[in-house]
Amino acid sequence: MADDGSLPPEDGRPLRVAVVGAGPAGIYAAEALTGRAPVPVTVDLIDRLPTPFGLVRHGIAPDHPKMRAIRDTLHRALDHPGVRFVGNVEVGTDITLDELRAHVDAVVYTYGAALDRPLSIDGEDLPGSLAATDLVAWYCGHPDADRERVEASLAGVRRAVVVGVGNVALDVARVLSRVPRELEPTDMPQHVLDALAATRVEEVTVLGRRGPAQATFTTKELDELGELAEATVLVDPDQLPGEDEPPPPDRLVARNIDVLRQYAAHTAEPGRTRLVLRFYRRPVRLLGADRVTGVEVERTTVDADGRATGTGEYEVLPADLVVRSVGYRGEGLPGLPVDQRSGTVPNEDGRVLRDGAASPGEYVAGWIKRGPTGVVGTNKHDARETVASLLADVGSGVIGPHGDRDDLVRTLQARGAEPVLLEDWRAIDAAEVSLGASRGRARTTLHEREALLAAVRAAAGR
Ligand code: NAP
Repeated sequence: MADDGSLPPEDGRPLRVAVVGAGPAGIYAAEALTGRAPVPVTVDLIDRLPTPFGLVRHGIAPDHPKMRAIRDTLHRALDHPGVRFVGNVEVGTDITLDELRAHVDAVVYTYGAALDRPLSIDGEDLPGSLAATDLVAWYCGHPDADRERVEASLAGVRRAVVVGVGNVALDVARVLSRVPRELEPTDMPQHVLDALAATRVEEVTVLGRRGPAQATFTTKELDELGELAEATVLVDPDQLPGEDEPPPPDRLVARNIDVLRQYAAHTAEPGRTRLVLRFYRRPVRLLGADRVTGVEVERTTVDADGRATGTGEYEVLPADLVVRSVGYRGEGLPGLPVDQRSGTVPNEDGRVLRDGAASPGEYVAGWIKRGPTGVVGTNKHDARETVASLLADVGSGVIGPHGDRDDLVRTLQARGAEPVLLEDWRAIDAAEVSLGASRGRARTTLHEREALLAAVRAAAGR
C-alpha cells in the first residue's frame, strides 16, 4: 500500500509473479502471494523438473513417509486458481532470466541449494567417494541422479563412512543400514530397492569432526536410529560427557546426549549392522588407488568456543564407500548473482541486491536466500517475509501490474518447450500410483525424465 494507505492504481489485470522453484519455499511463497495479498495476484510456479515439491520429493528420505506427506498440504497451494504450476522449464535454458522478467511484474527465486560442499581433501574424487547429494538424489529417484556412478560405488560395499553429523548424514546412514523389508513400503524406485537389497553393509560409521555437543542432528532423528530392524547403534562412552558432569546448558544438546548414552550401553551383535557414531575425528585424506579403501582421520579436541583443533594423532578407518554429508550450497542462475562464500543470492529481507542495491521486481526465498538450514516449515516464515517485501514494493509503486504481458506458457510452447502443467502432474502422479500397485506398493517413483513426460503425453493422448 502507498503511504496514504491506498492501493496502487490497477490497469485491469492482476499482478503477475513468477516463482522459480516449486519446492516448499516456492509453494509457500505462492500461497502467501495468492492467499493474503491486498491486490489480486497470479503466480506461475516454475520448476525445471516435470514434478513439484523439490526436496519434499527428492530430499526427504523415502523411509520418512510422515514427513513426505507434507506434500498433501503443499498440494493445496498448487490447486489454488491463482497458481499455475509450470514444470519442465529451465530458466537459463528454455527462457532467459531477462525474457522471464519481461513476462511478469516480479520474480521470486526459490530454487534452493542443490550443490554439494566438497571436503577439499586428497582422494575425494576416487570411485567409492560420493556426495550425500548424489546418494540422496539417487534413492529419491531424481531424474538427474548419476545412477551408474552411485550403483558402482555401492556394489559390494561392506564398510561405509559418512562424514558429517547433521540430519542428512543420519538419513544416509539409516538408509544404508536398513534391510529390504523396511524399504519395500517406501516409494523408492524399483532399481534403488534392488541395488540396496543387493548391498549388505556390515558397518556404517558416522564421523563428527567435533564432539557430540556440536552435532547438528536433532534428537528425533537420532532416537530413530535405535529402531532399525537389523542394525545396532554404537557409541564409545569415552566420547560422551561423564555422568557426573553438569548437564549441557542447551536442552537440545542435553537430549541428544541422553540418547547417545543409551547407545553407548549397546554392544555389537553378530549378524547385525554396526552403525557407529564417532566424534572428534576429521578426515584428512581418502585412501585407495582404483577406489576408496579407507579414510585417514586426525583426532581433534574441541575448545571452549566449540572450535576443533587437530591433535597430530592420525588413524585409518577402513571403508569401501565414503559419503560426504557436509552441507549443501546454492549457485546463481545465468544472470543472477550469488555470493560464492555463502552460496546464497545477496538479499535484504528477500529483496535481491545487485551491486548492493535492491533490484526492483526480484526477490528470493528458501535455501537460496538464507542457506541450507532449517526444516520444511522454516520456509513458510521465510517465504512470508519475502512476500511482505514484495507487497510493500507494490504498495510503494516500485512494482505493479503495468502494461501488457505475453502469456509465459504460450510463449514457451511456441518455442518448442514442453511445459508440464497441473493436470499433467496429476497424470504423472496417477502413473506412479499405478506403477506401485503393479508391485503391491502404494507408489513407485518414476525416476527418468522421459518416463515422467511419457506419462504426461499418454494422458494427453499425444
Ligand atoms: P548440517 O546440519 O549443516 O550438517 C553438516 C555437517 O557437516 C556438520 O556436522 C558439520 O560439522 C559437518 N562438516 C562441515 N564441513 C565439514 C568438513 N570439512 N569436515 C567434516 N565435517 C564437516 O547440514 P545437513 O545435514 O546437510 O542438513 C541441511 C539442513 O536440512 C539442516 O537444517 C537439517 O536439519 C535439514 N534436514 C532435516 C531433516 C529432518 O528434519 N529429518 C533431514 C535432513 C535434513 P561442523 O558443525 O563441525 O561444521
